[in-house]
Amino acid sequence: MSKVLVIGAGGVSSVCVHKMAMNAGIFSEVHLASRTLSKCDAIAESVLTRTGVTVSTYAIDAEDVPALTALIERIGPKLVVNLALPYQDLTIMEACLNAGVDYLDTANYEPKDVARFEYKWQWDLHDRFKARGIMALLGSGFDPGVTSVFAMWLKKHKLKTIRTLDILDCNGGDHGQAFATNFNPEINIREVTAPARHWEGGQFVETPPLSKKVEFDFEAVGLKNMYMMYHEELESLARFIPEMERARFWMTFGDAYINHLTVLKNVGMIDIEPIEYQGQQIVPLQFLAAVLPKPETLGPTTKGKTNIGDIATGEALDGSGEKTFYILQICDHEEAFAETGNQAISYTTGVPAMIGAALVLTGAWSGEGVFNMEQFDPDPFMDMLNKHGLPWTVKELAEPVEF
Ligand code: NDP
Repeated sequence: MSKVLVIGAGGVSSVCVHKMAMNAGIFSEVHLASRTLSKCDAIAESVLTRTGVTVSTYAIDAEDVPALTALIERIGPKLVVNLALPYQDLTIMEACLNAGVDYLDTANYEPKDVARFEYKWQWDLHDRFKARGIMALLGSGFDPGVTSVFAMWLKKHKLKTIRTLDILDCNGGDHGQAFATNFNPEINIREVTAPARHWEGGQFVETPPLSKKVEFDFEAVGLKNMYMMYHEELESLARFIPEMERARFWMTFGDAYINHLTVLKNVGMIDIEPIEYQGQQIVPLQFLAAVLPKPETLGPTTKGKTNIGDIATGEALDGSGEKTFYILQICDHEEAFAETGNQAISYTTGVPAMIGAALVLTGAWSGEGVFNMEQFDPDPFMDMLNKHGLPWTVKELAEPVEF
């Protein structure tokens, strides 16, 4: 029985809070704070209607450390779950250090003025979290999150070593809009248009954004073009699976998405440098995000499935030589929407956030300091995925990937 404070009131938060309410045996009290109180209230109302559980709501600027510290101290949660934006990671961690409360997030810190995300800033807080006797669990979403746990599960149950790892993220959903992103547009576009980086031969190798494309036949979705890009779990996977010779991340994009993005880039609409417009400083990408469809509005119209998984090749645990395994999860947009009122991208992130929170609160995953998903036993997390709406499958492939 534990009290939790969730920060942020977007699609991921909505799913996570619904799922916490559905598991009241673990989450005895759920508190929700975000910049816009009405968004917290809308989630609380939906949770009450769907589950009968009351969620307390608050307005907070998570970049105001003293105010956030005071709120955490007033509520007295055992855990703060950060589902705001990556920009707020460090201020929320600072407030958790002040209040002496555990911390969890789903995306690593990114400064607003440089489109560069890495774990360094958060890993640097390890000693302070340790000295304070509290823990931070980083990246408990799907990717990062489940994709790292998948790799560690394969290492525990199938492969003694992982030589190559490919993470394949396919969203086969169609929202019926000409152009929209399925999570926060600003974060999504910064991520997609960054140079691709993959791990090879003990270092990161950089290639131009979206320059490597492969067609792949995804179970339950079909043939899709996927593009190699950088994704943050590559950094923690390279650290915690040091024997890997190569690790890559792939994401599917339709031709229409790529065409729109190319035009927006060419005309300067995804720049993050502020420009002067009618006497005001505006950041083109932030303006674009403001006019694009809000991800949380896409739920009712999105049809199709997501399919996200890891393909790993390495030395089999049973001594039978080199083997390749594909471990994956398929999620249906319409089923996800029926359950919590949010599409599958929010669902596949919000459920692992709830699971990570449950494992921290119950002590199944515990420690003092700053931790990544790879550092804990994958089994309880994998069991909970099966029980809470994200069932997974694993199969052996005849040979390593050819691409
Ligand atoms: P949204 O943009 O829908 O929601 C973000 C929420 O954070 C909004 O409610 C916003 O408030 C709030 N917020 C922003 N700034 C502040 C602030 N200064 N103080 C308080 N609240 C603030 O994002 P998503 O729900 O799509 O994503 C949430 C997080 O999940 C992001 O960090 C994203 O990167 C991550 N993510 C992780 C994935 C994974 O698999 N690991 C996949 C998808 C997302 P307001 O409503 O007022 O704007």
